[in-house]
Amino acid sequence: MAVVFDLLNEDPRKKGEAQPRHPEKAHRPDNPVLRKPDWIRVKAPGSPKWAETNRIVKENGLVTVCEEAGCPNVGECWEKKHATFMIMGDTCTRACAFCNVKTGLPAPLDTKEPEHIAQAVSKLGLEHVVITSVDRDDLADGGAEHFAQVIRAIRAASPKTTIEILTPDFLRKDGALEIVVAARPDVFNHNLETVPSKYLTVRPGARYFHSIRLLQRVKELDPSIFTKSGIMVGLGEERNEVLQLMDDLRAADVDFITIGQYLQPTKKHHPVLRFVTPDEFASYDSVARAKGFLLASASPLTRSSHHAGEDFARLKAAREAKAL
Ligand code: SF4
Repeated sequence: MAVVFDLLNEDPRKKGEAQPRHPEKAHRPDNPVLRKPDWIRVKAPGSPKWAETNRIVKENGLVTVCEEAGCPNVGECWEKKHATFMIMGDTCTRACAFCNVKTGLPAPLDTKEPEHIAQAVSKLGLEHVVITSVDRDDLADGGAEHFAQVIRAIRAASPKTTIEILTPDFLRKDGALEIVVAARPDVFNHNLETVPSKYLTVRPGARYFHSIRLLQRVKELDPSIFTKSGIMVGLGEERNEVLQLMDDLRAADVDFITIGQYLQPTKKHHPVLRFVTPDEFASYDSVARAKGFLLASASPLTRSSHHAGEDFARLKAAREAKAL
């Protein structure tokens, strides 16, 4: 969508044009976007059910990560009325090299947003909802209280809906995590995104061990909450680094790992260094299960919120089976 501005060499603001979507990337050299292999094929959006989901999203003025991140699964997910809502605006204070969400200084929080999200969840009749957000380093609590308000509003409007949150890292926001956990989401997801050796180039504003510790702390605070984390592959990581990362997540008692192929949103983003084959994904999946995750999902099109409802049911069943 706003890729056009990313490809301009001049600063569009000098010409009175709109702010580029990723100002920090505008002057980077181009990384050619590789042709996708045959195993990456997705359903095109546009079915009547997709249109209904689209209408409800637009009528309620909601932002979805499905659209903002240019997710390849939007045709399939929206047809099933499964959208991932992105709260606290459409502008992120971080500038990760892989992410297509707009960057810059965000607007103040919309105090009506918790109510609007809850209404949309109710109208869509969702059994399971995933709520994520942009990073809000500009807020004193990183947006923790807003997350908690959204969870409480959904519980009030739609008590049977199970709630999964996908949060930022709340780096340098003491007490923020505790506020979110106290609102008792059913699933707490925080993505590591990549292996530690790639943090400086892929996720420079974050700290690997802080993210691991955040996930561990969720379990310490409330062991009933399922914890989940995901990474992208194809960014130049080694297989052994992925296996080590799995061990780090298990040491933090994380229940569920997701692994999917990184796809490059624009020429200004991090290049895809490799398309990982379906066989390699299958191997990651079986290794993860052997390492003790309650659930693993590893495939080219796995995304952290893909099939989240079905996966929640599997997580519950796996925990019950383990307790027997
Ligand atoms: S996988 Fe997640 S982000 Fe992608 S379309 Fe589905 S719900 Fe949206």
